[in-house]
Amino acid sequence: MDYKELVETYNALDNTSKRLEKTNIISKLIKKTGKEDIIEVIYLLQGIVFPIWDERKIGMGSKLAAKALVSVVGVSNDKVVGLWRKEGDLGKVAEILITNKKQRTLHRQKLTVKKVFENIRNLALLEGKGTVDKKIRLISELLSSADPKEARFITKTLLDKLRIGIREGIIRDALAWTVYDVDYDEKENKIHFKNGSREEYNKVVAKIQHAYNLTNDFGVVAASLKEKGLKGLEYVSVTLGKPINPMLAIKADDIKEALSSVGKPALFDYKLDGFRLQIHKFNNKYVFFTRRLENITNQFKELIPILNKYVKGKNYILDTEAVGYDPKTGNYLPFQKVSQRIKRKYDIEKIAKELPVEITVFDVIYYNNKNYMNEKQENRRKLIEKIVKEKDKKIVLTKKLISSDIKKIEKFYDDALRKGHEGLIAKNLNKEYVSGRRVGGWVKLKPVMEPLQLVIIGADWGEGKRTTWLSSFILGCKKGNEFLEIGKVGTGIKEKGDELTFKKLTKILKPLIESEKGRHVMIKPKILVEVSYEEIQRSPTYGSGYALRFPRLNGLRNDLRLDDCDDMARIERLYKKQKK
Ligand code: ATP
Repeated sequence: MDYKELVETYNALDNTSKRLEKTNIISKLIKKTGKEDIIEVIYLLQGIVFPIWDERKIGMGSKLAAKALVSVVGVSNDKVVGLWRKEGDLGKVAEILITNKKQRTLHRQKLTVKKVFENIRNLALLEGKGTVDKKIRLISELLSSADPKEARFITKTLLDKLRIGIREGIIRDALAWTVYDVDYDEKENKIHFKNGSREEYNKVVAKIQHAYNLTNDFGVVAASLKEKGLKGLEYVSVTLGKPINPMLAIKADDIKEALSSVGKPALFDYKLDGFRLQIHKFNNKYVFFTRRLENITNQFKELIPILNKYVKGKNYILDTEAVGYDPKTGNYLPFQKVSQRIKRKYDIEKIAKELPVEITVFDVIYYNNKNYMNEKQENRRKLIEKIVKEKDKKIVLTKKLISSDIKKIEKFYDDALRKGHEGLIAKNLNKEYVSGRRVGGWVKLKPVMEPLQLVIIGADWGEGKRTTWLSSFILGCKKGNEFLEIGKVGTGIKEKGDELTFKKLTKILKPLIESEKGRHVMIKPKILVEVSYEEIQRSPTYGSGYALRFPRLNGLRNDLRLDDCDDMARIERLYKKQKK
């Protein structure tokens, strides 16, 4: 396939914000794509050349891309940098420069999707001496054959800034439209089913989602669909070394609600405050993934001998929580403390000693060549009890209670909180392992924090589609006559609709802007908002000395006066209360 066709699709996607229209555009492209190009097309649509969970990334710096552009268009570095400053987007700069250049040279080779994909991939794989020159050569090869629009999207892809607004759900639905007869009514922006029903369609979508949950790779899913249609998905299965989307929990307000949602009796586990660690063992090697599918094997190599010694089995996938502890006192540490280990690239051994983790196993997905996803929770729990030999501060199982007795469960919940854990997770004993959140099976019980009333004192202009909106808001809490920063919120605000949108909030805040610096604006404290969050943490970043974990804007509080803004005393009180 010519790269031009993909570029036309990028453009069309860029020109609409309607989800169904985007889905239609993508499904048309996929239908046109032959087997030989399908993986490349699906990856490039997502702006990637490796599966999303692969450690290898394109990783191209803007400076290098600018340099390649200089060499291709033959203008000075200053000119490129000047334009770049003006446009703020190197992709656009590439488009402008190639437009000008086109009038001079006419020797161009047609770019194919395969060629673009290969060059970008090869560039990402380069290591060692002379890498910079080789990278510039690979980019130049593409840019010198590219037309202006192609140059724009190649550059954006190289810089990992494609941003054409296609999320996972859209690709999944577009794939469904290629195998199920869906009629898209452009005028009404609706879909109809002439030869089928929504119910059947939903089943197809669920099948594709399931295949994706197992692989986290739309390339593989699309290739299977191309090969054998829906039947092809049956061959997509759990693969050692590829992360599976984890099973997640919904909230319950109390134990009674938890029991009615997962059935009686239920398995109750302590909910630990660490991070999810999916452990894959195969061919005598290990791969570790986070909940967001990052490969962190390198950062946690110290766990390998522990797994070798205390877990039986030649291959497996375990679902675990890694919990940090203080090596001197043995006390468990909150997640924020160990979170620095996840992205750490240097001094890994040193930090592994300073901030060790204990593996707490709570589930098994695959064991000795058998997929356990369809086994009942009860049996999966039994299996981990058989294969893990517990060793304090190395590897343990989550503390469990199987019961329907509210009194016993209450005591278990209290014990968990008293020991400093987050709460409990209640699990349906009969449920299989299902990726995702609203899948039923797991519910969490956690003390709820009361929301805060805070004032907006600053904001950042958005990027991409959101450049005309303020999209991230600095919150302030009161101290005397001042307002001190206590975090940033961007969640809870809608893109469109009747509720509080970015556009509405921008309109309200714009007249209150006191100063601007780059993307950042200072805002006169006037607008009060209600913010919910999961935890108050100490933080050196903000003036108040505190930050909110997972803040979410619930809405405006026009009914309150500035004076009603929560003050430092309340923040400190809540912080202490949650510590207990
Ligand atoms: P939270 O922010 O409350 O931790 P979350 O958004 O991370 O929630 P949830 O679905 O609410 O995710 O809770 C599941 C998470 O809790 C898992 O991803 C895992 O990291 C953690 N967890 C801790 N203990 C357990 C356990 N015993 N069983 C399953 N998950 C556990």
